[in-house]
Amino acid sequence: MALPQIVIVGAGFGGLAAAKALKNTPAEIALIDRANHHLFQPLLYQVATSALFPGQIGTPIRAILRNQKNTTVILGEVTGVDKTQKCVFVSDADREGVRLAYDYLILATGVTHSYFGHNEFAKFAPGLKTLADAEAIRNMILQAFEQAEAEEDPARHRDLLTFILVGAGPTGVEMAGAIAVLVRSTLKSEFRRIDPVTARIVLVDIAPRVLPPFSEELSKAATQRLEKLGVEVRLGHSVDQIDADGIVVAGERIVSKTVIWTAGVAPSPAGKWLQVETDRAGRVRIQNDLTVPGHSEIFVIGDTASLDQNGKPLPGVAQVAMQQGRYAGKVIHNRIAGKPAPSPFSYFDKGSMAVVGKGFAVLQSGKVQVSGFGAWLAWAAVHLQFLATSSLRLTVFLQWVWTYVTGQRGSRLIVNHHGSEPGKPATDSATKAAVASK
Ligand SMILES: Cc1cc2nc3c(=O)[nH]c(=O)nc-3n(C[C@H](O)[C@H](O)[C@H](O)COP(=O)(O)OP(=O)(O)OC[C@H]3O[C@@H](n4cnc5c(N)ncnc54)[C@H](O)[C@@H]3O)c2cc1C
Repeated sequence: MALPQIVIVGAGFGGLAAAKALKNTPAEIALIDRANHHLFQPLLYQVATSALFPGQIGTPIRAILRNQKNTTVILGEVTGVDKTQKCVFVSDADREGVRLAYDYLILATGVTHSYFGHNEFAKFAPGLKTLADAEAIRNMILQAFEQAEAEEDPARHRDLLTFILVGAGPTGVEMAGAIAVLVRSTLKSEFRRIDPVTARIVLVDIAPRVLPPFSEELSKAATQRLEKLGVEVRLGHSVDQIDADGIVVAGERIVSKTVIWTAGVAPSPAGKWLQVETDRAGRVRIQNDLTVPGHSEIFVIGDTASLDQNGKPLPGVAQVAMQQGRYAGKVIHNRIAGKPAPSPFSYFDKGSMAVVGKGFAVLQSGKVQVSGFGAWLAWAAVHLQFLATSSLRLTVFLQWVWTYVTGQRGSRLIVNHHGSEPGKPATDSATKAAVASK
């Protein structure tokens, strides 16, 4: 008898967890991703700020699943789903719209940047989502210092050395803190015409406080830490304009050549492919067994899914995606093995953390709220634990110790890939994936 066909789209936190949960299932599994690597997104900001090499947070999906004989990894981009014919359409380097049939489908395609209707901002304010984005932002930051050093007119130094982060959620806060540490420790004695320590770092958000998912006390602690690092925190105003000369916020122009978008995300087009109900953000509304209403064979998980628990939508974080991936794998395994379905999905929140510069983090888990060095140690331990392989855990740990002690960084190369402007990100996703896989 033919084995059931399981197609998983996306090898991020959700898709990979689902594939691993199906390791012992008598089925043929196809895991499709448009990138050849699983990416540890929580440390992307460290690649963007030169702390880590790209290869320290990305692992080839094939390598992770090399011993999982029931799973085939396919490098390709899914462009649609036919629910009636039960197949997905996959495009790869030389073929378009290849049909791949499924008995069970798991969509775990994550999110992309959202400029809240201002797509014209994208050209001037790249976001941080892929390894290619992180390398492009690293290029921009390092290039700004090189341009300032080469610039003979000191009046222009300040504009060239102004770094703006739009969005004061965890990514914006972590980036702002990391840039501050980069300029005030690693780069401080390496230039002759400019003083990197004078670099201006501005964190802007319409929200009244930084890190909205955290408590007010932790938000306050993070703000104080940022200000101690020299970051200007400007809250309560939306950015009206982003262009080649910088931003306009609350009627004031801030001149900058380096604006980074850390504000919003929009889900993948999974809802459009399936033509099912979505929430206001466009995430697919799923049931508490993670399937789509009317289609018990289609699961949607992670950032691209919308599920309420205790009256609130689950957050778009790695833990939700991983727990949902494991759960979807278990439901499918039980069905194939003729076992009863597990009880409805329930998310167990282990807490949230964000780093603010060197040796300082905020941590919130249930009633526990901690900030400072202890929280940073906990953050480091948790992030090391969740890296995909033990070799990554070892190299990242050694790199962190080295950087902590010496202030030296992992990768400060400006690498301009063919086809992208110096210091600017490659634009289309295929190019991004290709660049990132190098
Ligand atoms: C900069 C940054 C920092 C973050 N920090 C944290 C943190 O500190 N803690 C935390 O818990 N969460 C953090 N997150 C959020 C966390 O990374 C996400 O919640 C998590 O990755 C969601 O998992 P997912 O499986 O839904 O999607 P993803 O992990 O994004 O995976 C989606 C996968 O689908 C693939 N894909 C997408 N579309 C297609 C297609 N059409 N065809 C083929 N493949 C496709 C992508 O290549 C990707 O591999 C951060 C996110 C970012 C961007």
